[in-house]
Amino acid sequence: MFKQASWDEPVVFNLGRKGRRGHLPPKTENEVTQTVDDISKLLPTNMRRKNPPMLPELSEVEAVRHFVRLSEMNYGVDSGLYPLGSCTMKYSPKINEQLAALPLLGTLNPYQEESTIQGILEILYKLERWLAEITGIHEVCLHPAAGAHGELLGALIMRAYYKQKGEGEKRTEIIVPDSAHGTNPASAAMAGFNVVVVPSDDEGCVSLGALKAAVSEKTAGLMLTNPNTLGLFEKNIDEIARTIHAAGGLLYYDGANLNPLLCKARPGDMGFDIVHVNIHKTFSTPHGGGGPGAGPVGVSKELTQFLPVPRVTFDGKNYHLNYDRPNSIGKIRGFYGNTAVLLRAYAYILSLGREGLAEVAEVSVLNANYLMKKLKGIKGLELPYNGARPRKHECVISAKPLKTETGVSALNIAKRLLDYGFHSPTIYFPLIVEEAMMIEPTETFEKEELDRFAETMKRICAEAYATPDTVLKAPHNTAIGRLDEVKASHPKTMTLSWRMHQKKIKQKP
Ligand SMILES: *Cc1c(COP(=O)(O)O)cnc(C)c1O
Repeated sequence: MFKQASWDEPVVFNLGRKGRRGHLPPKTENEVTQTVDDISKLLPTNMRRKNPPMLPELSEVEAVRHFVRLSEMNYGVDSGLYPLGSCTMKYSPKINEQLAALPLLGTLNPYQEESTIQGILEILYKLERWLAEITGIHEVCLHPAAGAHGELLGALIMRAYYKQKGEGEKRTEIIVPDSAHGTNPASAAMAGFNVVVVPSDDEGCVSLGALKAAVSEKTAGLMLTNPNTLGLFEKNIDEIARTIHAAGGLLYYDGANLNPLLCKARPGDMGFDIVHVNIHKTFSTPHGGGGPGAGPVGVSKELTQFLPVPRVTFDGKNYHLNYDRPNSIGKIRGFYGNTAVLLRAYAYILSLGREGLAEVAEVSVLNANYLMKKLKGIKGLELPYNGARPRKHECVISAKPLKTETGVSALNIAKRLLDYGFHSPTIYFPLIVEEAMMIEPTETFEKEELDRFAETMKRICAEAYATPDTVLKAPHNTAIGRLDEVKASHPKTMTLSWRMHQKKIKQKP
């Protein structure tokens, strides 16, 4: 059985001693090593800090040991299977990191003269074209920092479009299926729309009847994830698109699940007018814990006028940043997007090419269906929504029978998986499946690892029937035991930084 390292590691602020250094500032012209104080005196007085920064002082060895120890108590895609459904936790090739870290790219400043940043502009320009080709859409803007940010931009573009048509007052509703990710209704509401939820049918797809009943002259658009969060391809997509367009609405594609469609099918061809791509998911940036990401948005020809400024343009000789776009919604973010993330996507697409991307799609679907077949036969688990139908990139298994028969829930299984050296799948999402376990193996794990995962799930379910306490009290082999899920995410108790921690202990009576 897997055992995580368990160091009694203090926070970095409690390590080291005053004056200890791991780095010498560069020497001045007369070969005298400067101290931090000397250097800060070179700054104009109004730019100097009043108080020195609260930084830990340690040697290089102490710093290295500290972070290595922390990493040994952690789990990542480089450790093993990370089947967090919908998040596409694929292995991120190291060559992407090398490219993104090239000194020439890392030292660029967004305030530089256009003529001195032709290289990065060319990369951004080409990436936009590639993403447009991959999604089958007219033009792409790289600015949004994540999928949810892209959704907000998409909804703002819808507003601008209806305003121009003189229908701004009338088009007040965005339709969202009940299987949608929570960011969809949240983004629509943030942009000022009312959210109308349509239920799924017995097959786990958007109910056409309910959709037709929900559509009206108030409809601004439909936000749809395809394949949806159950891993099912919305097979009525043509009719869905016709229904929305006939009512004068726009179709928004949530691209979180684009992975299984790469170079196989394109949202633009399905009738979508606005598309976002979760770069960090499909195109392999290491992500988790909230970032970093990129959520480029692509639009149909008619909507390109509304894209944020600046646009990267090419006159056949030079690249430019064009701000002269009178109908643009303005800025959605400072500068041109999370370029370090975009560079990784550029490297990923360049290294795989068209055939490689198609293979990504094929293997991700093969892996998900292989795992689904193995899991659905396990006593205690069931596969809701037509188990005979193949899934795309992920499958959603329900632990409801196990919960009813043993008291062991999806959450308990998730915790017990940690003991066996696996990251947990996404649980309790989508909301329409009770005791949901949403499993996305991605294309980057080998058959033996998938077999180990299926065997482990089987073993945990058997434990639930034989010795339920083992599973109910898991994890047993991790550096930190079971967390209080509420305390861990409640603004009152969550402590995200040393400064927050210091404030909290000071407040204590
Ligand atoms: C991840 C995800 C989102 C949100 O994307 P972020 O990049 O995390 O903001 C939206 N929809 C679905 C289906 C997702 O899986």
